[in-house]
Amino acid sequence: MDRSTPMIELKGIGEKTQKLFAKLDIYTVGDLLSFYPKDYETFHSPVSIRQAASGEVCAVRGAVTGIPNEKRVRNLYILNVNVSDGTGNLQLTFFNMPFLKKALKQGGYYIFRGSVQTRGNFKIMEQPKIYSIEEYEKQTDKLIPKYSLTKGLTNQALQKAVKQALSLCPAEEEYYGEEFLRSHDLARAEDALHGIHFPTDMEMLMKARRRLVFDEFFSFLFLMRQNKEFSDRMENSYTMFETADTIRFVEQLSFPLTKAQKRVWGEIRDDLGSPYCMNRLIQGDVGSGKTVLALLALLMTAANGYQGAMMAPTEVLATQHFETVCEYTEKMHLAFKPVLLVGSMTAKEKREAYGKIASGEANLIIGTHALIQGKVEYKSLALVVTDEQHRFGVRQREQLAEKGEKPHILVMSATPIPRTLAIILYGDLHISVVDELPANRLPIKNCVVNTAYRAKAYEFIEKEVKAGRQAYVICPQVEEGELDDLENVVDYTKKLQSRLSADIHVAYLHGKMRPADKNRIMEDFAARAIDVLVSTTVIEVGINVPNATVMMVENAERFGLAQLHQLRGRVGRGAHQSYCIFVSTKENKETMERLQILNRSNDGFFIASEDLKLRGPGDLFGIRQSGEFSFRIGDIYNDAAVLQKAAAAVDKLLLDDPSLERPEHGALRKHLENVAVDSVDFRTI
Ligand code: ADP
Ligand code: MG
Repeated sequence: MDRSTPMIELKGIGEKTQKLFAKLDIYTVGDLLSFYPKDYETFHSPVSIRQAASGEVCAVRGAVTGIPNEKRVRNLYILNVNVSDGTGNLQLTFFNMPFLKKALKQGGYYIFRGSVQTRGNFKIMEQPKIYSIEEYEKQTDKLIPKYSLTKGLTNQALQKAVKQALSLCPAEEEYYGEEFLRSHDLARAEDALHGIHFPTDMEMLMKARRRLVFDEFFSFLFLMRQNKEFSDRMENSYTMFETADTIRFVEQLSFPLTKAQKRVWGEIRDDLGSPYCMNRLIQGDVGSGKTVLALLALLMTAANGYQGAMMAPTEVLATQHFETVCEYTEKMHLAFKPVLLVGSMTAKEKREAYGKIASGEANLIIGTHALIQGKVEYKSLALVVTDEQHRFGVRQREQLAEKGEKPHILVMSATPIPRTLAIILYGDLHISVVDELPANRLPIKNCVVNTAYRAKAYEFIEKEVKAGRQAYVICPQVEEGELDDLENVVDYTKKLQSRLSADIHVAYLHGKMRPADKNRIMEDFAARAIDVLVSTTVIEVGINVPNATVMMVENAERFGLAQLHQLRGRVGRGAHQSYCIFVSTKENKETMERLQILNRSNDGFFIASEDLKLRGPGDLFGIRQSGEFSFRIGDIYNDAAVLQKAAAAVDKLLLDDPSLERPEHGALRKHLENVAVDSVDFRTI
């Protein structure tokens, strides 16, 4: 067995389970080993029911008292069970688990683990996990890995598979030298792999993680910087002149450009006309109006007779940009001849698009990254804009350059990134900041509430919809069972529809839907055929429906602040007053304090810096930030120190032995070759 062994060869994995693993993009043993836990859980010793605090997850040991009480509400089967431990009583509630009625014997002793809530005078626990005393003791005080799951695949099953793979797969050859490991204070590759999956304590986990983060940054930076172009300024092969097109476009817009937009447009215009190739990052908070800037640059390109491409991380966003462009082009008679290039198009549609791109009949290509970089032949690609995606480096530029001369690059992002980090990640890059929101915006009104507020929130949504507005509700997972106790899009939609008037149209959207379905739902929402959209964070980036005024986020405690801010950015994009409701299931002090930061500020840069101050090393696994830099495990903010060390190590190695020819670098070369194959992992959700 080695890393390329298919999953089915593991014991206990048949065809059915193999398919479930495939859903998580795990096809080989190697995929499995690099499928790191997304969180760890410590099972603390049980507490007495009297001590169990509201809003906390804890375990209690108690005996089932009385006879379970069952009832049905619509198609929900509810089972209430009373438990006592001598210090107090606890009511357990289970949904759609009728078999528990017999399984939980009166007088039986169990350990129940879940989140405790107080309702009036008594304590309740919904959907707790049930353990026998021995079973629980075995895992007490250990760090238990929690993996991302898919329906039908349990955390237990994943743990078992990983254990098996770790014991059967031969140890990976260490690719850093002893001296390197020592001077950079790194764990060995093999120890890191064991430590990330099954750490015995926090220290082991942190060491393992540090090595894996270092590796990830090191290989990314090495592959990028191996390219001379990373540091050299490139000559502009597409010098452009300003024409009347862009001036007319600005005049015809229904709004004046903000001062910041004007300034940044000036910078872009100068770049396009300068002797050097543009490599510019535009940072601007959500809603600051970056799209118009991209369109201006693309219009100047088209007016000069060249082609421009605009890449988006999701098909939904690409489609939306395409529609915006078509609308403007028609209304203002712009020089654009746009085509769309997304995965859900039929083979015939794609072929047609390729034809137009190759002949030059199309001068603006909008699509998802993979497609635009794929087998497309351009006639004269002079500008590439990437929206909401940082990870566009020299390698990608190179791939595009193979199709012609080196194009100008414009990267647009709402994520603030400090200059020092930007330089490490991009080399010779210029940064523009759109530090002003359009004047017609009313600040979003925010509130952070607990689940008891839901009824009120629904009334509020109802009121806004009746007034002609629209709403989003975000849930952390797609369907039941991926993680415990979290709201999921599919069930939530049903629940919400039953709570709102029948004439309010509720629909859902998530990343596992077929792209064509996602596009249709988004179009319907944009056209107001859908009033309330229940969604996962797929709508997090870029989506622009200015008529939507309510953003309600369930399990807000599960998201990073920057991500919540992105989500909030989906509302407040028009002239109507907008509202954001963050619903937290956890009511402990830290969670509430963290969420209150959003309540106090609508400024993404401020929020990002506060978030950093609050997130200690222990938080790293809990809350993932929005994945714009799609590093698997590293976090450029929290791991900035490791990033800098990795960058220094890469620089030194590049001076020393740039093509890794020396024998002591053989293993490293082999390792990097493997990484190179799969380092481009653009999201196509
Ligand atoms: P983001 O920076 O988040 O990508 P968008 O470019 O999508 O923001 O712009 C958000 C909304 O604001 C769009 O509906 C856009 O038409 C509008 N907009 C852009 N610039 C201005 C402006 N100067 N004044 C008023 N509205 C603007
Ligand atoms: Mg945008």
